[in-house]
Amino acid sequence: MSATETLVPFDDVLAAYDPALGLEVHVELSTATKMFCGCPTGFGAEPNTQVCPTCLGLPGAMPAVNRVAVESAIRIGLALNCEIAEWCRFARKNYFYPDMPKNFQTSQYDEPIAFEGFMDVEVDGETFRVEIERAHMEEDTGKSLHVGGSTGRIHGADYSLVDYNRAGIPLIEIVTKPITGMGEKAPAVARAYVQQLRELIVALGVSEARMDQGNLRADVNLSLAPKGSGVLGTRTETKNVNSFRSVERAVRYEMQRHAGILGSGGSILQETRHWHEDTGVTTSGREKSDADDYRYFPEPDLVPVAPTREWVEELRATLPENPTQKRARLQADWGFSDMEMRDTVGAGAFGLVEATVAAGCPPQAARKWWLGEMARRANDSGTDIADLGVTPLDVARVQALVDEGSLNDKLARQVFDGLLAGEGTPDEIVASRGLAIVSDEGALNAAVDEAIAANPDVADKIRDGKHAAAGALIGAVMKQMRGQADAARVRELVLEKLA
Ligand SMILES: [Zn+2]
Repeated sequence: MSATETLVPFDDVLAAYDPALGLEVHVELSTATKMFCGCPTGFGAEPNTQVCPTCLGLPGAMPAVNRVAVESAIRIGLALNCEIAEWCRFARKNYFYPDMPKNFQTSQYDEPIAFEGFMDVEVDGETFRVEIERAHMEEDTGKSLHVGGSTGRIHGADYSLVDYNRAGIPLIEIVTKPITGMGEKAPAVARAYVQQLRELIVALGVSEARMDQGNLRADVNLSLAPKGSGVLGTRTETKNVNSFRSVERAVRYEMQRHAGILGSGGSILQETRHWHEDTGVTTSGREKSDADDYRYFPEPDLVPVAPTREWVEELRATLPENPTQKRARLQADWGFSDMEMRDTVGAGAFGLVEATVAAGCPPQAARKWWLGEMARRANDSGTDIADLGVTPLDVARVQALVDEGSLNDKLARQVFDGLLAGEGTPDEIVASRGLAIVSDEGALNAAVDEAIAANPDVADKIRDGKHAAAGALIGAVMKQMRGQADAARVRELVLEKLA
């Protein structure tokens, strides 16, 4: 971070400027094989074991297009309300990158497979239409590993290793048009767009779309223009922001940073920037002009992609329910108020609540756990709730244990502690931590008798009909049993004994 960076207070930014966003999201498809060869795509294999002459760019190797990847690209395009090209080609994007063995990336240039779409994004009950410029097919690069430095970066490293297993895995890049008219909601719109896009990708079943594993990567373009001017300012592009929360923070930070430069008479350098999760700042990457010339030319080794209209319509029939309609339908099913639904969507918990309910959990309980306990823990650890490591099945199981009387809320929270600590399944944690509620009547009776004996004044009040006083005795019993008693049963016993 540059020590000279001046950040303008957020409200002051809005008083003087209109923000504009542009989002570029890369989605790594979960196809069984790579984009242009038959190599497997599984994650975590030994380095350079999932490679062949094609994805290593060896002379004479011939690529062939992965049909499932094209199908996924068309389905993504259709789900984003795009038009689907009747005919399009791949292009070579020429540049040197050490983990890109061909020295060009096979991508699409002026003929993307999908274009001119939109997605409606909801923020606090307000709908913003995000226009999609294009969704095109391309391939991923390999991965470099820099060894010897302290931070894993190339600076200070003794040597670097390259793993080409990822080279050639299919990517879809989804690019928005400039998004304007958001005002103070710009950071939230950016976050909501990426969240909703992820939900859509997951619903389509074309990618795991996990940001923490790099299946879904967002580059965030931000510019400011003088308020009411209606023009677009110079933008910066913050690369590979890897959580929803970071998307929001990065936009906010860049707005404040841009305003600091513009306000002191400076001008914005058009460049890429790196987001630093730990310090919450961006730092300069490389200068980038709109006229970057990659010497694109049509890929001569691949035939054009010309999806028939019949095929496109067949794929349209496989699309999941429209997200807006789906939210309305599930809100009615779940009996959520508008506010409850808005909070659920805003917290990025819609899909999680849906999956938890599908696993048998009552909707209000699912909402309560994800928006309360899980959101708090995610916030404490600076992650998204989806990345906590607690699954919808876990939450549904914990609630089932509560519903059958084996756990109360307090004990359930201890089960979540165990889940976050990687101690196993909810049932294993209940067993290993000894968390189950004591339902042994003998033990409960003994504890209640003891509490009555220790609090004769309270007992007398209850005998006189002041049932409100029972709380003190129940509290004493719960304390003695370390919270592991069924409070409702304890209350019954207290009142029975003092009737
Ligand atoms: Zn290969």
